[in-house]
Amino acid sequence: MSEAELTVVGCGTVVPEADRAASSYWISSPGTESAARTRVLFDCGPGALQALARLGLPWGKITDLAITHFHADHVGALPGLFFALKHGLPRPRGRPLTVWGPAGTRRFFEKLAGAYGDFVLNPGFSVLIEELSPGEARDLSGGPRLEAHKTPHTDESVAWRLDGESFSFGYTGDTGPSTELGSFMRGVSALVCECSLPDAQATDNHLSPARVAELAAAACPRLLVLTHVYPHLRTGHDVPRLVAEAGYAGATRVATEGLRVSLTNG
Ligand SMILES: [Zn+2]
Repeated sequence: MSEAELTVVGCGTVVPEADRAASSYWISSPGTESAARTRVLFDCGPGALQALARLGLPWGKITDLAITHFHADHVGALPGLFFALKHGLPRPRGRPLTVWGPAGTRRFFEKLAGAYGDFVLNPGFSVLIEELSPGEARDLSGGPRLEAHKTPHTDESVAWRLDGESFSFGYTGDTGPSTELGSFMRGVSALVCECSLPDAQATDNHLSPARVAELAAAACPRLLVLTHVYPHLRTGHDVPRLVAEAGYAGATRVATEGLRVSLTNG
């Protein structure tokens, strides 16, 4: 595969469900002459490891991990991931792994190491922890540029945008309404956007279909991928239709485990 691609690993919520893991998304982008392929996992919620295995994704070759915030449905499988990277590969891993996260990520990993053991920070290869403030951007080792944007959800929560030479991707993480976030995501190939609750239960720290429509109208992604849809919204509702009826006319899909979307422009 020579194109950049999104694979939905987990698109669920706090609620355990039989057909989907909690939040987790895999981006694979081609390498360049000077850099190897980039494999980024965005969030790692409960059930993500088994889903990675079901989907046949090379989890042992992950190059970067990007975390949006510290709610358990987004980070609950992290100890298991590091335990697997230390003990679950046929050969010990040598390449470093960079963890990108909001302020507090280093302290969060230190707490995990305190509870689970040293392997979280020292799994036998280098774990680099990089905290990005909203507005900051860094180049990943494989080339793509990762940028953080504040979201109204928790004190630390951020959304991520990833731009490569020929692709772009956006992931809101969990967020409340934010027109600035829509502008930040402008023109991405695929925008994975949370759509947690029905409009009748709209809150300030999650999105509902009408609020998604406002954000997507500002972002104008090539494809809008709705995710983190709570069971009582997805059951019996055509969620893309609700977003369309709220005024967003662009291509929209609901995330499902294994959904693959090409991110390459053109
Ligand atoms: Zn959350």
